[in-house]
Amino acid sequence: MSNRRDFIKKTALGTIGVSTVFSCKEITENKQDKAEGVIGSTPTKPLVISTWNHGLPANEETWKRLKQGRSTLDAIEAGMKIPEADPKVRSVGYGGFPDREGKVTLDACIMDHKSNCGSVSFLQGIKHPISIAKRVLQNTPHVMLSGKGALQFALSEGFVEENLLTDEAEKDWKKWLEASKYSPVINIENHDTISMLVLDKNGDISGGCTTSGAAWKMHGRVGDSPIIGAGLFLDNEVGAAAATGLGEAVIRTAGSAMVVELMRQGKSPFEACKEIVERIYNKHKDHKDMEYLQVGFIALNKNGEYAGYSLRSGFNYAVVDETQGNRMEDAQFKMKWDN
Ligand code: ASP
Repeated sequence: MSNRRDFIKKTALGTIGVSTVFSCKEITENKQDKAEGVIGSTPTKPLVISTWNHGLPANEETWKRLKQGRSTLDAIEAGMKIPEADPKVRSVGYGGFPDREGKVTLDACIMDHKSNCGSVSFLQGIKHPISIAKRVLQNTPHVMLSGKGALQFALSEGFVEENLLTDEAEKDWKKWLEASKYSPVINIENHDTISMLVLDKNGDISGGCTTSGAAWKMHGRVGDSPIIGAGLFLDNEVGAAAATGLGEAVIRTAGSAMVVELMRQGKSPFEACKEIVERIYNKHKDHKDMEYLQVGFIALNKNGEYAGYSLRSGFNYAVVDETQGNRMEDAQFKMKWDN
């Protein structure tokens, strides 16, 4: 099973001293021979699906809260807080890779089955951006707060400012500075947002995303993850989708919203994810971003069918349901990294 380490290797973490050369043998083969749309399509409810290996502990926490009868938003928040607090998860919250100025800046959003949304972007100094996004949903008339305003709101809600740059992340950033000579060109990206979709026992859908975004991004850069319609979208009549990968490509194509709209038109979660990945590929094949472009989507529909699909190999997601428990599944993909 692939993991985020594979993904980092393949997304050219040469910037922190790791060779960009990788072997496809390191990647567990996807079961591309399985019939399209079959993977993960057994309808089940309740269901939680989250991106990447750090989705496993997040799912576990969310599942526990759902079983305790807590609200879905509380359950999502509790799940997302696990990778946010884990310094070993280098792409989310505390310990996340900083931007090129050495600042950890965080993006998150959350959305419920009534289409209530809350989002924060370019938030610094707060360990749990998902909690602030939830407070934006619950306690403000707005959908999105950004930068200093988001921080000010977090402090007014009783959250405490803290240093999120771990020694490890600072060391990696300093290495990056040496190798890159502070080049202003963004051609090196490292990703791994956690995006989570939940279908609860009543058949209601909600979701969330949280990330430190692309490593070594320009200061002030905001990715797709806090943008409703790009990094996350749901319509309780239809289903939900969420993204990981190069946020710029997902924003350009309104990725998650489009996956949901295709499901509205009758596509399965698998078909919808695949079609949008194909669209992203077609729009980017002659684009400067193509060399390092990776995007992946997860989606579920009202019936409890779900899927994931990515442009390049290496994307996986965690799924938990009553019958099979909490496990990792590899996404199908359009091409291998050496294509
Ligand atoms: N989509 C995120 C961003 O571009 C990164 C990721 O998914 O890893 O900020």
